[in-house]
Amino acid sequence: MAAYDPDNIFAKILRGEIPSTRVYEDEATLVFMDIMPRAPGHCLVIPKTPCRNLLDASAEQLSAVIATVQKMSHAVMKGLGADGVTIQQFNEAPGGQEVFHLHFHVLPRHEGDKVGPPGVMGDMAEIAAIAEKIRAAVS
Ligand code: AMP
Repeated sequence: MAAYDPDNIFAKILRGEIPSTRVYEDEATLVFMDIMPRAPGHCLVIPKTPCRNLLDASAEQLSAVIATVQKMSHAVMKGLGADGVTIQQFNEAPGGQEVFHLHFHVLPRHEGDKVGPPGVMGDMAEIAAIAEKIRAAVS
């Protein structure tokens, strides 16, 4: 497996070198909105420390990230009135990974909806408004 690249886009987001719509952070994890949301409220949970994906993550990184995934799942259920949550996580390019800093996708789901296609840029004003609702619902 390739080494961790400290210039990947999520590392730049962590360092504040490129903008992001942040919704939550704690000592070990950061959550921000996906700019190409596959569902309204699609957000990404990452560890603040470097690792490429699930395959090189430490037990500590994984436990911190999954606890935040659960927290955000509760937040989107409450804040967006979601009926369910889909969690996605991809490892290495053949596994569907495009950004090589560990991340979990949190996709709020509503009865009867379908996950949208990948690679479609979202409306940033809409994303910001949804982020505000999620932020307000994080306990
Ligand atoms: P993957 O590596 O396939 O699990 O997915 C990477 C995700 O990162 C995709 O859902 C992209 O829409 C998302 N993404 C890429 N660049 C940014 C960015 N600058 N800010 C927020 N999300 C991003």
